[in-house]
Amino acid sequence: MPPIGVRPRGSAHNDGMSPTPLLLVTGASRGIGAATARLAAAQGWDVAINYANDEAAAEAVADAVRAQGRRALTLCADVSRQGQVRAMFATLDRHAADGGGVLAGLVNNAGVVDRAARLDEMSAPRLERMLAVNVLGTMLCAREAVRRMSTRHGGAGGAIVNLGSAASRLGAPAQYVDYAAAKGAVDSFTIGLAREVAAEGVRVNAVRPGIIETEIHASGGQPDRAARLAPTVPMQRPGSADEVAQAILWLLSPLSSYTTGALVDVAGGR
Ligand code: NAP
Repeated sequence: MPPIGVRPRGSAHNDGMSPTPLLLVTGASRGIGAATARLAAAQGWDVAINYANDEAAAEAVADAVRAQGRRALTLCADVSRQGQVRAMFATLDRHAADGGGVLAGLVNNAGVVDRAARLDEMSAPRLERMLAVNVLGTMLCAREAVRRMSTRHGGAGGAIVNLGSAASRLGAPAQYVDYAAAKGAVDSFTIGLAREVAAEGVRVNAVRPGIIETEIHASGGQPDRAARLAPTVPMQRPGSADEVAQAILWLLSPLSSYTTGALVDVAGGR
């Protein structure tokens, strides 16, 4: 059981008297983030859908959440920009003050890759963007969430799930070692933050997908990457965004109440 005063959050079992738990999913306009938002709604969460560019896609995800009887709001913010992250969380504070759901979960899903390249071909702006979105963005959003969810700050507890990658184990040579290293930082950050806030009602875990069929591969100039690499996966196929979302929702739920600092591979054995 969790410590007295810290109720497991993110449960589909709302007692009707407490505010509905609200989950913020970054990068939820498509792919794994969108699948997570939809599954979260099915499991009883209100969902805040963050996106960077594609407002129409984010609104479509919000409609899918509402179709399941949950509240949804869309929030445009570049997670690598502190000012935009703070404004996004301030919007969530106002939403809660107006009787909306109270932040009880964060999925740090927003992430980027780039063109396949060797390190000796990479520009400094590319490296900066890779670290800014994948690492700094994860840390900025986690910081704002801890400031609201930790019992040290008067919060009621919560759960954070960071999206790592199997690339942190494999290194992604001649593909994107910058991305792999950024995801390695996410692994370390997950372990450290989990221990830092473990006694404050906040659990922090990571899901590390393998090759998942989403548009991220096209964004890196390789639309056929998932199909092409399928034979290298022990299970001989790419995963789906829904399969990753299932692991994320488990880590957000009370079913994983004694799990923190875990790096959960969802990679078909890769
Ligand atoms: P995706 O299809 O490319 O979607 C990325 C999402 O992140 C989009 O909603 C995009 O929003 C948003 N985004 C990008 N930059 C952002 C920023 N600076 N601020 C806020 N939002 C931003 O990616 P995915 O495949 O679903 O991947 C999701 C996560 O899983 C990432 O962290 C990725 O590294 C990780 N992962 C994926 C795979 C895979 O094979 N797919 C494998 C391992 C790990 P807009 O569309 O509005 O720009």
